[in-house]
Amino acid sequence: MRGQGIRGWTLLLFIIAVTAGLASAQQQSDIRVLHVQGNVYMLVGAVGNIAVQVGQDGVLMVDTGAAQATDQVMAAVVQLAKPVTNRPLRFIINTHFHADHTGGNEKARAAGATITGGNVAGNISDATEGAAVFAHANVMRRMSAPTGSQSPTPPGAWPTDTYFGDEKDLFFNGEAIQLFHPKPAHTDGDSIVFFRRSDVVSTGDIFTTTNYPIIDLQSGGSINGVIDALNFILDITVPADKQEGGTMVIPGHGRLCDEADVVEYRDMVTIIRDRIQDMFKKGMTLEQVKAAKPTRDYDPLYGSTAGAWTTDMFVEAVYKSLSAKK
Ligand SMILES: [Zn+2]
Ligand SMILES: [Zn+2]
Repeated sequence: MRGQGIRGWTLLLFIIAVTAGLASAQQQSDIRVLHVQGNVYMLVGAVGNIAVQVGQDGVLMVDTGAAQATDQVMAAVVQLAKPVTNRPLRFIINTHFHADHTGGNEKARAAGATITGGNVAGNISDATEGAAVFAHANVMRRMSAPTGSQSPTPPGAWPTDTYFGDEKDLFFNGEAIQLFHPKPAHTDGDSIVFFRRSDVVSTGDIFTTTNYPIIDLQSGGSINGVIDALNFILDITVPADKQEGGTMVIPGHGRLCDEADVVEYRDMVTIIRDRIQDMFKKGMTLEQVKAAKPTRDYDPLYGSTAGAWTTDMFVEAVYKSLSAKK
């Protein structure tokens, strides 16, 4: 009896070890988890970056990544939370409405209801179940049905708590968390999320290290708004003093940054905006501006001739943004 019991346990432990090994191997290949500082972690690999705050009160996520990555994202979140808390995912904050940042909302909300191993069944029919989703009101406007047409996203993915105006405060895991809504920048519904005690800023796509800023003109974006928002991020970040850590910045895409990285990016965007503005004022057409290559010296770092956001698209968006009536 006893021997069998031990064999049984050995087998069980073996299965657990193998399963855990497979799970972590699979996870490592797609979602990378990085401790930023304080209670905040950065998840990379779900297209859009994700920030996760973990503490005794539970879990908070800033953005949920692209839909195809959600299962792995949530597995990584569960692993992060397990040693710290048995409380669920309570809050999701969306920095804006784009699908590479909200694609996991629906599943993540459901996980919020079930992360402790309770009712694993099905869909959320009620906004009081699952995690609360915070976002600026314009995120809701763009995710839900605009004037009677079919909504571009399912209701289960929509924000449950929206704010108007330029600021919203939360307090969670012993930490003040501020949402700042800049004037239209990447879109007209951006939020910059500031974890005050951990000293971490999550910027959404206002700041990305991998490309020129995406100005979603159709969704109210503006080049001058992006520059204003980058300057605002610089207002709330404090640089490192000697070896001490300063404010860390999680961009919408790309690597973990600090204030100096944002300064460099802000300078680049400002210089290019000024060049295109000068050309525009001289009466140059969009084609002439493109031909003059106002981004040339920065193209090795941020430029692209293929993909979803090319250098040409950026120059065109800046030109159109500057020529639009304010
Ligand atoms: Zn994005
Ligand atoms: Zn975006």
